[in-house]
This record gives sequence, structure tokens and C-alpha cells, in this order.
Amino acid sequence: MEKTIFEKILDKEIPSYKIYEDDYVYAFLDVFPITKGHTLVIPKKHSRNIFDCDSETAANIGRVLPKIANAVKSSFSADGVNIFQNNEEYAGQSVFHLHFHIVPRYKKESGHFDNLEIKWPPQKLEQQQFLEIQEKITNNLK
Ligand code: AMP
Repeated sequence: MEKTIFEKILDKEIPSYKIYEDDYVYAFLDVFPITKGHTLVIPKKHSRNIFDCDSETAANIGRVLPKIANAVKSSFSADGVNIFQNNEEYAGQSVFHLHFHIVPRYKKESGHFDNLEIKWPPQKLEQQQFLEIQEKITNNLK
């Protein structure tokens, strides 16, 4: 199967702006940043996305996310940070190697670019609907 662009970055076939590396994880600047300092964190072990990721790989990423998020935030005194993670094309995934977006957020007056607009339109549900959803999901955890 054809390597993804992130596997090519890991294999040093194409360049990247490295931010962090250990035995399991690599982090680098997103080359199409939506805010200043937008950073990607990826596992060295390949998985397509969250669905086929083993728990050790997830743990390795989870261990370094706070450290990298803190560095990204403090570098330009960000006003906040969003962490995004897209799985499958319909959810916005375009590179099929698991990755986490660390996206620092800036108020307008900061002078740093922040082109992100988040829309989060909530839906009202009845208690019975919550209970059905809860049961369905918890059953799938078993
Ligand atoms: P997603 O849409 O969640 O799959 O995110 C993929 C991200 O990878 C996008 O934000 C792209 O801007 C970024 N990207 C694509 N190619 C490269 C590259 N060569 N180096 C760094 N980031 C990249």
C-alpha cells in the first residue's frame, strides 16, 4: 500500500518542521496552519486513525500531548488551545495516518493569525433519548 505523507515524513523522504520526537511519537508544524503554531502529533507506529489504534500507541501520544500543548501555548502566549482529531473522510480526515491537531487560539487583539471558526450547534433531547443512546454505547464497550 502507498505510504501516507506522514509516513514519508517519518521516513525522512520529505521534510518537516520538527517540534518533538521520542521513540514512539513525532510532532511537527502543520504546513497549512489554521492558527499560528498549529502542530501535528503522530505515532511512529502506523494506524489509519483512532479505530485501529492500539492502546499502547494511544498512551504514548497521550503522554506527550500536555507537554507539547503547553509549549505551543506559551510560545506565543495563546489565549487557549484546541486539540482536534479527525477520523475518516466524512469527519474531515485527509491524511490516513493517525494524528492530533494542536491548535493554539488567539484573541483578535493578540495580533496572531487565527482563522478557525468553530460551530457547535446543540440538539435538545428528552431523557428517554439520552437513556437509549447511553445504553447503546455502553453495550458496545462490553
Ligand atoms: P486531517 O484533515 O485531519 O487529516 O489533517 C491533515 C493535516 O495535515 C492538514 O491540516 C494539512 O494541512 C496537514 N498536512 C498535509 N501535508 C502536510 C505536510 N507535508 N507537512 C505538514 N502538514 C501537512
